[in-house]
Amino acid sequence: MLKGFFHVPKAVNEPVKGYAPNSPERAAVQAAYTKMWNTKIDVPLYIGSEEIRTGNTRNMSAPHDHKHIVGTYHLAEKAHVEKAIANALEARTAWANMAWEQRAAIFLKAAELVAGPYRARINAATMIAQSKNIHQAEIDASCELIDFLRFNVEFMTQIYADQPTSTSDVWNRLEYRPLEGFVYAITPFNFTAIAANLPASAAMMGNVVVWKPSDSQIFSTQIIVEIFKEAGVPDGVINVVYGDPLMVTDTVLASRDFAGMHFTGSTHVFKDIWAKIGTNIHHYKTYPRIVGETGGKDFIVAHPSANSKQVSTGIVRGAFEFQGQKCSAASRAYIPQSLWPSVKEEIITDVKSMKMGSPEDFGNFITAVIHEGSFDKLASYIDQAKKDADAEIIVGGNYDKSVGYFIEPTVIVTTNPHYATMETELFGPVMTIFVYEDAKWEETLELVDTTSEYALTGAIFSEDRYAIEVATVKLQNAAGNFYINDKPTGAVVGQQPFGGARASGTNDKAGSPLNLLRWVSPRTIKETFVTPVDYRYPFLGE
Ligand code: NAD
Repeated sequence: MLKGFFHVPKAVNEPVKGYAPNSPERAAVQAAYTKMWNTKIDVPLYIGSEEIRTGNTRNMSAPHDHKHIVGTYHLAEKAHVEKAIANALEARTAWANMAWEQRAAIFLKAAELVAGPYRARINAATMIAQSKNIHQAEIDASCELIDFLRFNVEFMTQIYADQPTSTSDVWNRLEYRPLEGFVYAITPFNFTAIAANLPASAAMMGNVVVWKPSDSQIFSTQIIVEIFKEAGVPDGVINVVYGDPLMVTDTVLASRDFAGMHFTGSTHVFKDIWAKIGTNIHHYKTYPRIVGETGGKDFIVAHPSANSKQVSTGIVRGAFEFQGQKCSAASRAYIPQSLWPSVKEEIITDVKSMKMGSPEDFGNFITAVIHEGSFDKLASYIDQAKKDADAEIIVGGNYDKSVGYFIEPTVIVTTNPHYATMETELFGPVMTIFVYEDAKWEETLELVDTTSEYALTGAIFSEDRYAIEVATVKLQNAAGNFYINDKPTGAVVGQQPFGGARASGTNDKAGSPLNLLRWVSPRTIKETFVTPVDYRYPFLGE
């Protein structure tokens, strides 16, 4: 053990690069994209020190050109998942006992690898795998991932430094032990940064991990794995398995050593897994930590005092960036009648100006949605809106999956505040708007609060401070991330800790010490310097 109370480098947010024409970063990412597009990779399972190719493979393709194959990945069977658990547990003692500053160095190095040598590749991989335009790839796969790694290292040291009071004869200490067992990380398709952070944050706190990424994100997972390896994450600490999510999950949950789940994905999947954990509870050595960030039906509500251009910009950016596939994406809006004519006109003008196509063409703001299942679901809701008397599509409404899964940014206006697309998470570029009477501000806030089962993000626009105050109080439980005069997307690590309650998750705030606290099991150590040798207290005296 080294001697010294070490300070980690002060965490700072990674600046977002611009990718303007002729910039070096633009040339680098274009070159990386072209190379990756024209090379087929073969992705194995990573279990312990082994790369396992099971021979049972699936193709990986880009959502914007689904016939173009960029590689294959291998699917695990039950025995591989069991092997991943065994390897994790084997690696546990050495990893859990490693001095924290060594773990910190690994993840700080990972951050710098993303910031420098891997930046173009991880962005290009995210453009290909998840069909993000370069800006969306940059703020996710580079900046947010770097921020998660840097800030979590700093938060880890803050947690370790948080110690109880002692007296001159008793020294009290809190030791932040890793969980006794392994952590299961299940990650979604939509953020490369989340995919990396879910296993990394648990591992950083000394835990060993079995990680199951989303089938739709494996192409960019591969870069994360390469970065973790180069940064020095030891074999067995983060084991990566692909395959049938039900089989993988059931196998993991059958282990007595299952100690925690770090999940991000849809609400129904999380609830089902939670129920299974409950059923198995007598089987586990320890109560598993359950952390889940799940769905949303995120809102924008404008007060009559709001600036219409700010509202319409908030709507088009909040709803349509990354094709509305951010958990924080706005998908329902409430606009007062007096503002509606200008907001409507501005939205239509903006949406019509958006170009849609492959992210390889930097002029495209809109690219494809993730897969055919998502495309078909969105198309069916759009078709239904075309038929329903209480809905009208004011812009968009076309879709085409012949080359890629392209859905036009679509705005539905409804006269029914409980219309299906006001309540259901669609996870795509569909925004539904309800126009309310100006005088009904408080009733509208009540509607916003009670319409959906979710409570992830929400935004209000107003230039009237009383209205802001009323909304902030009335919508206290409607969103875990609440925005005033801004769109409800784009949370930055270290600045806006992210997460929601109700059906949106356990609200353990990714990118904050609150999340890291879930991956430790503190041990209190009391040491007495002069130990009593007589059981009698003074009150027993004659
Ligand atoms: P998803 O629920 O389809 O998949 C998430 C993960 O769960 C994947 O790894 C998937 O393979 C796995 N999975 C799917 N079915 C499973 C099952 N029956 N048992 C076990 N695992 C299973 O979600 P997605 O489409 O990848 O991501 C979109 C969803 O994630 C949206 O609902 C979105 O709101 C949510 N999300 C939430 C946040 C947040 O911070 N709240 C962030 C990102 C995404």
